[in-house]
Amino acid sequence: METNPQNIDLGKREAPLAMTPEEFREVGHALVEHIANFLGTLSEKPVTTGEAPHQIRAILGSEPLPITGNSPAQLMEETTRLLFEHSLFNGHPRFWGYITSSPAPIGILADMLASTINPNVGGFALSPMATEIERQTIRWISELIGFPVEGGGLLVSRGNMANFVGFLAARTAKVPWPIREEGLTEQRPKLLVYCAKATHTWIEKAADLFGLGTQSIRWIALNADQQMEVAALEQQILVDREAGHLPFLVVGTAGTVSTGAVDPLPALAAICRKYDLWFHVDGAYGAPAAVLPEASDFLKGLKEADSVALDPHKWLYSPLEAGCILVRDPKTLTATFSFHPEYYNFSGNAADPEVNFYEYGPQNSRGFRALKVWMALRHIGKEGYVQMIRDDIALSRALFALAEDHPLLQPISQHLSIATFRFVPDDLPEDSTEREAYLNQLNKELLDRLQGGGEAFLSNAVIGGKYCLRACIVNFRTTIEDIKALPEIVVRIGKEVDREMRSANRK
Ligand SMILES: *Cc1c(COP(=O)(O)O)cnc(C)c1O
Repeated sequence: METNPQNIDLGKREAPLAMTPEEFREVGHALVEHIANFLGTLSEKPVTTGEAPHQIRAILGSEPLPITGNSPAQLMEETTRLLFEHSLFNGHPRFWGYITSSPAPIGILADMLASTINPNVGGFALSPMATEIERQTIRWISELIGFPVEGGGLLVSRGNMANFVGFLAARTAKVPWPIREEGLTEQRPKLLVYCAKATHTWIEKAADLFGLGTQSIRWIALNADQQMEVAALEQQILVDREAGHLPFLVVGTAGTVSTGAVDPLPALAAICRKYDLWFHVDGAYGAPAAVLPEASDFLKGLKEADSVALDPHKWLYSPLEAGCILVRDPKTLTATFSFHPEYYNFSGNAADPEVNFYEYGPQNSRGFRALKVWMALRHIGKEGYVQMIRDDIALSRALFALAEDHPLLQPISQHLSIATFRFVPDDLPEDSTEREAYLNQLNKELLDRLQGGGEAFLSNAVIGGKYCLRACIVNFRTTIEDIKALPEIVVRIGKEVDREMRSANRK
């Protein structure tokens, strides 16, 4: 065999990706300057430029794959410009859509540090300090929301994944046959899951992905406050047991995605105890609000759950992505996810056992998500979170009160930091189906224009058939001035859309 046909001179290897410390310092300092200026001027920018896909593509260009390289300094200049000038900023004080928070500045820096060490937090041997920082983060999050600190858990990509992990842990724990080996078969009873109609769509993905099928979900009715009807839940469980099915999981939501409503968690916990079901709480959005001394008993009931999912990238203000699953009994995670392939040398020492996170969840190699969460918890402490979450809720209530006071706005709901309302012109005909259909169309068009306009960003909720505007405040940059500006913006756009729709209808 010819050993070196290309005559490669390995004596003076210069890897194209390597940067000298001087070069790194120069490009890095320039980046930090740009970021600091960006953060300092965020409130003066539009929330979004509202550019269409073809415009964004034209700006990005359609160059083929670069064959040779670029100077990192120039590349950084160009890239910061592309992103700072053509993004939607969920850190903007007037971004209140969906549930995406302003990222904590300390989290931005933490991500850079995490990438520098680049630990693989799948095994302790590969990430000694990072693994223990993640374990401490899990304990601190439990402490923050009042969940037992002797429990366990881990960080995952998102709320969906956190809920999936809870779902799978429930399945292993409550199914009476070895489900991991034997799976689901025709001869076995049908596994059933119970949740309220307002549950996030992750439950459908879970039932589908994990082979139960979406027909295994029993959607329980809501009461007038958008919470699960406890009596209806118990009734359905009894009917299903009678029919020979196997109920195994009840999902309660701590802060629904549409309205922020919290299910009566203590009552759900009692039903789960009575019928030996796993109690999972989806607190992706609302669980951190349990830190407030004034939190409702419904919300504080999450401490009785077998598992709780929450999203540090929502109300803990981590940059995307960080989801978290907490379990009462850490052994339920290894019982669900652990395998021991021959190519892993992660045995450790029985007297001083190591935690290898690849055995606790679906991921194998894992990034250091915990650092941004851990640093934010240390930066401001529990008191800092109490203050920020409390302020967000107070701002949401202030917005709801403004909608109540405005003659052209109809307030619909307010829970945690989510307020919903809609624009209602004052000269519409009496209550009728046409009136509701018109209002739905009007508010949808209003929202489209608002979202593209860049003045403020809301999303929508459909409540009792009404298409509503929805403001969710997980935003530590929002001030009361930002909130006071919103009704006027909404009403101005609403009147404009109303005028156009009426003249189009007349034609
Ligand atoms: C956001 C949210 C989810 C999904 O979380 P992702 O982080 O978007 O995957 C699930 N449930 C609730 C209640 C949520 O608010």
